[in-house]
Amino acid sequence: MSDAIDRSRGRYAPSPTGRLHAGNARTALLAWLSARAGGGTFVVRVEDLDRARVLPEAEAALLDDLRWLGLDWDEGPDKEGPHGPYRQTARGARYDAAIDHLLATGRAFGCACSRSEVARAASAPHVEDDEGPRYPGTCRALPAAQVEARARDMGRLPTIRFHGRAARIGFADDILGPLEPFGAAGVDDFVLRRADGVPAYQLAVVVDDAAMKIDHVVRGTDLVLSTPRQISLYRALDLTPPRFAHVPLLLTRHGDRLAKRTRPVSIADLREREVDPRVIVGRLAASAGLHDGGGQPLSATALLAGFGSRREIWARMNRNPAVWD
Ligand code: GLU
Repeated sequence: MSDAIDRSRGRYAPSPTGRLHAGNARTALLAWLSARAGGGTFVVRVEDLDRARVLPEAEAALLDDLRWLGLDWDEGPDKEGPHGPYRQTARGARYDAAIDHLLATGRAFGCACSRSEVARAASAPHVEDDEGPRYPGTCRALPAAQVEARARDMGRLPTIRFHGRAARIGFADDILGPLEPFGAAGVDDFVLRRADGVPAYQLAVVVDDAAMKIDHVVRGTDLVLSTPRQISLYRALDLTPPRFAHVPLLLTRHGDRLAKRTRPVSIADLREREVDPRVIVGRLAASAGLHDGGGQPLSATALLAGFGSRREIWARMNRNPAVWD
């Protein structure tokens, strides 16, 4: 195993918008395990930019749930370190600096289109994901002053968009294997800063992972469509992208993704019922294919003891969605 892997830095980047459920806990466990196997550093970063969705007590509760599961971290909102602060709302200047750089190098532009204008002008058919219809490029060629004036008339700031140049970007995922570029249309002109001035997830996650020297990102497959966008951003900012491992999701018995919508049992509920955390860790590890013995109770430390490197984890990792009952 190379030095680079031995000194690796991983992270878990939760949004404090609700309670931790088994799906989040499983991603956190795998992120922790992959950082710690081989002795790497683990960082917790709180992604709290979307203030409308953030719940006041959620951060403390989720950190507490992670500790209860037996996970620990070297840097986080409760543990300042060399790359802090570890809450995104305290990192605004870094996002502004990245946006200024992208504007200056022609990789970003202001846009005064409303949502409905984008929707109307988007050429059908298009592949939609959680970012909505594909932006047709309306403001890209307009002088910045004209866009600003129009946004001002509308009583808002221009949205800042990335100039995606329809780049087609594939990558080698540590769990899913080599991935061809998604779709024919390539990287879109996705939003970097919203019209209310709030930096968008895509920008903040790249700026922070780079600044925090994260060399491998472990997260759910629900974010895999974002990864080519993020790799494109790394390149436009002259940064080296990390490795990515997208964890197959946990499904309900009915085949639905475990999400707030499906009202999964929270870790807090399990704690209240005095379930032993080792029961949860054992079952989560078994669902990932990392624990023989039918999901017997297992502490996070005991699970970690079975792995000497990240590579060993991904070699055994179950590549299919698992069911959580
Ligand atoms: N904050 C994001 C979420 O909770 C995760 C971001 C990431 O891991 O890239 O869904």
